[in-house]
Amino acid sequence: MNHTASRMIIVSAPSGAGKTTIVKHLLSTFPQLAFSVSATSRKMREGEKDGREYYFLTSDEFRLMIEQQKLLEWQEVYPGSYYGTPVSEVERMISGHRYPVFDVDVVGGLNIKKLYGDAALAVFIRPPSYEILEKRLRLRATDSEESLQKRLDKVKWELTFEQHFDRVIVNDKLEDALQQAEMLIREFLGLA
Ligand code: ADP
Ligand code: 5GP
Repeated sequence: MNHTASRMIIVSAPSGAGKTTIVKHLLSTFPQLAFSVSATSRKMREGEKDGREYYFLTSDEFRLMIEQQKLLEWQEVYPGSYYGTPVSEVERMISGHRYPVFDVDVVGGLNIKKLYGDAALAVFIRPPSYEILEKRLRLRATDSEESLQKRLDKVKWELTFEQHFDRVIVNDKLEDALQQAEMLIREFLGLA
């Protein structure tokens, strides 16, 4: 099986920067795109559904996927929480004639970019400041204090990866960020 989609979009950023919000907007704007559902060993949050936000696996099931080489890439994004892109997702997109959108951490994002080169647009979402990011994460209220701290502990390190991405969106005013994201996709897909 050839795993090469002709175009793909990678969206990476620290947790709370606005990836999910921006990706959802892009998916509802461009019928050409489809969300690549990752596998994860983290616990399901309230409101999430298996197979929609993620394929929720036990750590053993996740390890088996690694062993069986069923993941295009994977990372232990937070201590004890594994995330990975199933090869089968990319295949699903290709057979459905859709361009995959990957919401992945900064390292996973750059790994996918390395695999696909110019066929992939790697977008980094930057929050206006660390303080605003923390405030948004607390307002989102989806994480326990422990999970929140794990996320905040990584932010400064993750922000240093920005320079390696193709494009950067500063997510200050949401309307502006969504518009900029749309513009980038139009340009990349040749729809402009
Ligand atoms: P990520 O997927 O990167 O973790 P989210 O998209 O979940 O981030 O955004 C984190 C929180 O911040 C969510 O509650 C979201 O509604 C909110 N948010 C996103 N962008 C903005 C913005 N520009 N201004 C204010 N709140 C925002
Ligand atoms: P969350 O637990 O908030 O849903 O996601 C935590 C982090 O894991 C985010 O940065 C998200 O982009 C990243 N992530 C989600 N899926 C994958 C994946 O398949 N691979 C990698 N490397 N990171 C992922």
